[in-house]
Amino acid sequence: MKLQLFPNKPSGSTEDYLALLLALITLGTTIFHVAFGSSKVATQNAEPQSIAFVNVNVVPFDRERILEGQTVIVRDGRIVQIGPANKIKVPTGALKLDGRGKYLMPGLADMHVHLSSQPDLASQQLQLFLANGVTTVRNMIGKPEHLALRDKVAKGELPGPTIYTAGPPLLGNTVATPEAGERAVVEQKKAGYDLIKVHEGLSPETYAAIVTTGKRVGIPFAGHVTATVGLQRALDAQQTSIEHLDGYLQAMVADNSPVKPGPSQVVLGPVLEHIDESKIPALAAATRKAGVWNDPTLTLFKLVVSDAKPEDLAQWPELQYVPAGMRESFTKQKQSTTNIPAPPSERQRYIELRNKMLIALHEAGSKLLIGPDSPQFFLVPGFATHKELQSFVDAGLTPYEALEAATRNPGEYFAEVMKVRRDFGTVEVGMRADLLLLDANPLESVANLSKRVGLMVRGRWLPESELRKMLENIAAVNRAPKAN
Ligand SMILES: [Zn+2]
Repeated sequence: MKLQLFPNKPSGSTEDYLALLLALITLGTTIFHVAFGSSKVATQNAEPQSIAFVNVNVVPFDRERILEGQTVIVRDGRIVQIGPANKIKVPTGALKLDGRGKYLMPGLADMHVHLSSQPDLASQQLQLFLANGVTTVRNMIGKPEHLALRDKVAKGELPGPTIYTAGPPLLGNTVATPEAGERAVVEQKKAGYDLIKVHEGLSPETYAAIVTTGKRVGIPFAGHVTATVGLQRALDAQQTSIEHLDGYLQAMVADNSPVKPGPSQVVLGPVLEHIDESKIPALAAATRKAGVWNDPTLTLFKLVVSDAKPEDLAQWPELQYVPAGMRESFTKQKQSTTNIPAPPSERQRYIELRNKMLIALHEAGSKLLIGPDSPQFFLVPGFATHKELQSFVDAGLTPYEALEAATRNPGEYFAEVMKVRRDFGTVEVGMRADLLLLDANPLESVANLSKRVGLMVRGRWLPESELRKMLENIAAVNRAPKAN
C-alpha cells in the first residue's frame, strides 16, 4: 500500500515507517503470547442477601446532580431501592456500608479494550479493570476464547467486568469480496459475538455488504473508518461507533486543497496547512444526525505523536502490572514513533484538531465514549481508562461530561445498538449493581476516581483492600522469573 502522508516529500523510509506505524496501531497488541503462572483470586464467602449503602451522596448520572443522604439497597445483582436515608428501611441481615461523606456513582465502562486470548493473561487484565473501577468492557477484537470468557464472568466463575465482545476484525485482506463480507457477518452472528468490528482496507462494496447483512441478521457493527470507505459512507451506513476519530481530519481538508490526505490515521505533513476548520461544525452536526457514536482514543494518539522517550514512559508505575514481554513491545512501538518525521508544531496541530473535533461533537449533541484501546503504547488496562477521562477534561470537557462518556453513554450505546433496555450506567432502581464508592466528589475532578472505598460489580462488593490485593498479586506474578 502506498501511503501519502507526506506527499511533498520523497518516498522511501518515511513511507516504510508510516506503514509500520499504521500496522502497529491497527493491530494493537493482540499478538502477544506471553506465558504466565496462574494468579489466584481470593474466593469470597457467600454474600449476604442484601447490601445497603447507608447515608451516601449519590451521583446518579441521569443528569448533573448529587443526591445527598441517600440509602441504596442492592439485591441479586441489581439496585432495588434508593431513597432518603431516614425513609429507607435496611433489610435485616443486610451488609451495611457506611456512606457518610462518601460518593456513590456508576462503575466505569471502557469501550475499546483488547483482552488477551490467553486465559491467565485475560484474567489479569479483567482484574486490572476491576482494580480501576471498570465494571463493563467492550472487547474490540474477539476470538472464540472471548465468548467463553464473557460467559464465565457472567456466571460469576471469574472476577471481572461485564464483557461485550466483537468478533475477529473484518479487514480488506480477510474479507476481500462482498460475498466474503456477508459470510463473515452471518458466521459471527451465529457464533454469538455481540458486534462486528470493521477494520482497515475494506472496499466500499464489501463494507456495504457487511452493513446490509449486519442489519438483516441483527448484529451491530463498529470500528475504523478506512480511507477507501471514508467518513461520509460510515455516517450514511450509521456505523454504531467510529474509533480513533477516523476520517474526520481527512474530511476537514479544504475542497480546493492541492494536497490530498493520505490513508493513515495519523494526519501530519503539508496537508495540515490546508485544513478548513469551518467544516468542523457541519461534520459534528452530520454525525449527530446519523446517530453515530465516537470513541476518539485521544490518549493513544497523543502518545503516538508525543516526543516522550520510551524509557520515560516505561517509568509509569502501572507498568508493573503487565508482563515484561509486553513492556518491551510498548517500548518498541514508541521507539518506532520517536523519529516521526514531523516538527513539534505539526504534532501539536494534529492533537489540537482532534480536540476541537471532540468538543464540536459534544456541542452538537453527538455521543462520546471512553475507550482508550489498551494494552498498547504504554496504556495499561484500567489505568488507561482514567488517562482517557483526563484527556477528555484536558480537551475542554467538564469532569461530568467526561464521566458521562464512561457511564451513562455506554449504557445507552448498548441499549440502542442491541435493541434492549438499558442495563447500566446510572444509579437507578433496576440497573445492574455496578457501583463505585469514592471518598471524594468525582464531579470536582476525575482524579478523585482513584480515591476509592470499594467497587461493586454485579452486586458483589470488593473493598479497596481486596482491589489492592489483586494488584499486588498481579505485580508479583509479573516480577517472578518465568517457569518454563
Ligand atoms: Zn483497538
